[in-house]
Amino acid sequence: MASVLLTGASGFIAAHVLKILIDRGYTVKATVRSQAKADYIKNQYPDAKLSFSIVPDIAASGAFDEAVKGVDYIVHTASPFHFKVTDPVKDMLDPAVKGTRSVLEAAKAYAPQVKRIVITSSFAAIVNITKGDWPGHVYTEEDWNEVTWEEAAGKDASTTYRGSKTFAEKAAWDFVRDEKPNFEVTTINPPLVWGPMLHDVSPETINTSNAMVYGMINGSVKTTSTMHAGWVDVRNVAEAHVKAFETPEAAGQRYFLIGGKFYYPDVVKIIQKNFPELADKLPTISDEPLPPFWDFSNEKSRKQLGIEYLTLEQSIVDLTKQLISWVPK
Ligand code: NDP
Repeated sequence: MASVLLTGASGFIAAHVLKILIDRGYTVKATVRSQAKADYIKNQYPDAKLSFSIVPDIAASGAFDEAVKGVDYIVHTASPFHFKVTDPVKDMLDPAVKGTRSVLEAAKAYAPQVKRIVITSSFAAIVNITKGDWPGHVYTEEDWNEVTWEEAAGKDASTTYRGSKTFAEKAAWDFVRDEKPNFEVTTINPPLVWGPMLHDVSPETINTSNAMVYGMINGSVKTTSTMHAGWVDVRNVAEAHVKAFETPEAAGQRYFLIGGKFYYPDVVKIIQKNFPELADKLPTISDEPLPPFWDFSNEKSRKQLGIEYLTLEQSIVDLTKQLISWVPK
C-alpha cells in the first residue's frame, strides 16, 4: 500500500485525514511540532503503520527535506489558523507561504517518487472581499481573492489570514508552472470547517473554527449577530483530501469544498432544538434583518471527488455533543 506524508497531523482537519488514511491501510508519516504530540497520536493508533517526523516550524528553511523522503503522496495541512497575530509576516504569512514552498521544494529535490501533493487552501483564497456580500454572485473554483501583500501584512488579522492562504496557494501553482516537477498538485478550499474533533484539544486550545460554536453554547455570547458565511463538515473535508490524490482527474485542480451557507441564528436554532438543556446558555435570537449574500456551486467536488455533503444539522449536533461536557454549569 502507498505511503503518505501528512503535515500538521496534530490539527483539527489533519486528525480526520489521518483517520481515513489509517482506515484505508495507507502507511503514514506524520509531521508534528514535538515528540509529545507524536506520542499522543501514536497512542490513538497503536497498531497503525504510522511514523513521525518532528518539524517544529514549517517556516524554517529546509523544514521538510527529511520528512518527504520515501513517500508516494503528500497532504500538506499545516498552516497557522488563528487571529492572535503580533507580526503578520512572521506569525502568519511566512509559515503559510514558506511552509508550502518548502514542501514542494523538498519533494522536487529529495523525493522524485512523489506523485501528488494535496494542499489545504481555503475559501479565504477564493473570496473577493472588495465585493462585500455580493448578492447574486455564484462562487466557484474560478474565483480568486485579490488581496495584495501590503494589505495582508497590515493590521487586520482576518485580512492577514486570508492573505496567508491566498499567497500560499498562489505559490504552489507558480511552483508547478515554473519548476515543472514530477508531481501534480491539487488544492482543497473549504470555508469555515465544523464538526467533531479527534485531535488533542481542550476549551483553551480548541481550534479557531469550532471555537465559534463553543462561544455560542458556553454563555459568553448574549445575542446573535447577522454574521453569515459558508461552512462544511470536517469529515467531508478530510475525505476530499484523500480523494484528491486517489482520483486521477483531480490532478492540477482546486476544489471549493462547501456544504452550505448559514446565518448565525441558524446555528443557534439547531442547538436550541437538539440540546434543550443548553437553553439558558444560548444567545437570544436578534430580530435584525439578515442580508442576502453570495451563492456557491459545489458541483465539481460532488462530481469529480464523489463528496456527499453532510447537513449543517449533522455537523453542529455532532460537534455540540462533544462540546457540551465543557460548558460551565
Ligand atoms: P489547526 O490549528 O487545528 O491546525 C493547524 C496545524 O498546523 C496544526 O497541526 C499546527 O501545529 C500546524 N502549524 C501551524 N503553524 C505551524 C508552524 N509555524 N510550524 C509547524 N506547524 C504549524 O487548524 P485546522 O485544522 O482548522 O487547519 C488546518 C488547515 O486547514 C490550515 O491550512 C487552515 O488554513 C486550513 N483551513 C481551515 C479551515 C477551518 O475552518 N478550520 C477553513 C479553511 C482552511 P500545532 O497543533 O502544533 O500548533
